[in-house]
Amino acid sequence: MDAKSFAVIGLGRFGGNVLKHLYESGYEVMGIDENEEKVQDYTGMATHTVQADSTDEQALQEIGIRNVDVVVVAIGEDIQASILTTLILKEAGVKKIVAKAQNERHGQVLYKVGADRVVFPERDMGKRVAHNLISTNVLDFVELSPDYGVVEVAASENLYGKSLIELDLRAQFGVNVMAIKTNHEFNIAPSPEVIIQEGDILIVIGHNDDLRRFEEEI
Ligand code: ADP
Repeated sequence: MDAKSFAVIGLGRFGGNVLKHLYESGYEVMGIDENEEKVQDYTGMATHTVQADSTDEQALQEIGIRNVDVVVVAIGEDIQASILTTLILKEAGVKKIVAKAQNERHGQVLYKVGADRVVFPERDMGKRVAHNLISTNVLDFVELSPDYGVVEVAASENLYGKSLIELDLRAQFGVNVMAIKTNHEFNIAPSPEVIIQEGDILIVIGHNDDLRRFEEEI
């Protein structure tokens, strides 16, 4: 385990879920929000919860924020507070800062003031849902970079009974099948002779444009 202690600032829907998940996974995690009600809501779902305004440098110091390994800035609406908080954390010497951005511009600023990683949960979820709408075979989509991604697709009828060699998806679409899930069992790096069966799920990596063509035609 390379990270030991966490703090989540801003216990809205996103931050609250990050907090809960880390706590349930057995990590030491502190939840911080300026809203006393939020702090109460999450007591018992964190190692401890603190009511504090994260734009108050001294308040963060008193909490001992610089001793936390990873701090997640999950302030949503208040972009100014999110930027200021990130800056204060950077100046306090926090080793790793992960910040949530509302949009691309906000994300750029967060990087500039010292975020080590910026996440765009609404944008990413929007893309995932859109991929699923393009083709109902698409079960999930994960963006690796603006150009590349991974899709999880349910094998359609035209794939049944065919081997990966026969299908030759690499030549047809420029995509690669990384794994095949059959009855909840994963076959990682499947051999080219593997025959696709009804109910199989394919995990496919490729350029977003190629994946889109694959999704549309599969
Ligand atoms: P989401 O979209 O994930 O639900 P919200 O914007 O609703 O996010 O929630 C953000 C949370 O951050 C709120 O609970 C709010 O009280 C908290 N928050 C906003 N500004 C500060 C701040 N300066 N210090 C601490 N918590 C803050």
